[in-house]
Amino acid sequence: MGFGLYVYKFRHGDVVPMDEALVRELLEPYAPYDVPDGERVEWVRAADGSEADVCIDHGVSFDRPGRGVLDIIAELTRRTGAAVLLMNKHQTTIVTRESDRKHLPEELQENAVVVPPPAMTGQAIELVIRPQPEPRSRPVLPPFPYHPDPIGSGSVIAADERCACCGHDQGWIYTGPVYGQDLPDGRVCPYCIAFGTAAKRHGMFFNEVCADQVPDEAATKISERTPGFSTWQDWGWPTHCDDGTAFLGAVGAEEMAPYPDAVDHLRQQFTEGNREPGWIDDFLHSLHKDDQPTAYLFRCRTCGTHLARADFS
Ligand SMILES: [Zn+2]
Ligand SMILES: [Zn+2]
Repeated sequence: MGFGLYVYKFRHGDVVPMDEALVRELLEPYAPYDVPDGERVEWVRAADGSEADVCIDHGVSFDRPGRGVLDIIAELTRRTGAAVLLMNKHQTTIVTRESDRKHLPEELQENAVVVPPPAMTGQAIELVIRPQPEPRSRPVLPPFPYHPDPIGSGSVIAADERCACCGHDQGWIYTGPVYGQDLPDGRVCPYCIAFGTAAKRHGMFFNEVCADQVPDEAATKISERTPGFSTWQDWGWPTHCDDGTAFLGAVGAEEMAPYPDAVDHLRQQFTEGNREPGWIDDFLHSLHKDDQPTAYLFRCRTCGTHLARADFS
């Protein structure tokens, strides 16, 4: 099937006819033949020799326009204020003013691209119509038993970035806190965390653990081989059943509601800190996933009990 571009003017969702005299005036210089008086331009040839069949009715359509013809289409669009329709599966439309968007048929509004007149060139159209490259496929993350979903928690993000430790672009980069001395510039990949390379080469560690609460092996794994996460205050990694717990993510009152054991755990910490029950209730209600104060949810890897910590002043 041929690829075509369609230039149409819209008003309140309907096609409105374009000024035929203006269309002829704009296209005629590109017609490689004498256009008889009173007839429409049916064929254009651009400066680079590329051509397209033209069909003018309510709008102007160009069949298989070459690169140079895109310049002609851009000029037509600039001068008439019409929209360019790609008629692709995304129904992409190019308009020259944001205020034109609301005049498009509803199904075209969402994917409309605004290219202001001075920027409206054949090249700009080409950038919009050229199929976008498929998103890069990224490798599976190594397992992190103490932080099972570092992508979900935001500590690891997709990135096309070289790791400051191994020097490779692994497709993922760690965004959380890093501790240690003489740290290299730049961020590290999750593989260098998981395999202990960042700890070995640069003395990096990512979490604080109270060493007397868990076996050394677990403490080392959490500290040196587990992605951390940003908190406002420093507190040791929660432990349960003689092991470190698994960090599930930052949570607010709403996200913590399904875990009454975690809420009780927080309440208990504040009670031990001699907070008034009323203060504790207010505080628990005010917790928010994305804003201070925030709570952090953990689950025991042995018995499944949920625990929580929170930043508070
Ligand atoms: Zn690395
Ligand atoms: Zn437990």
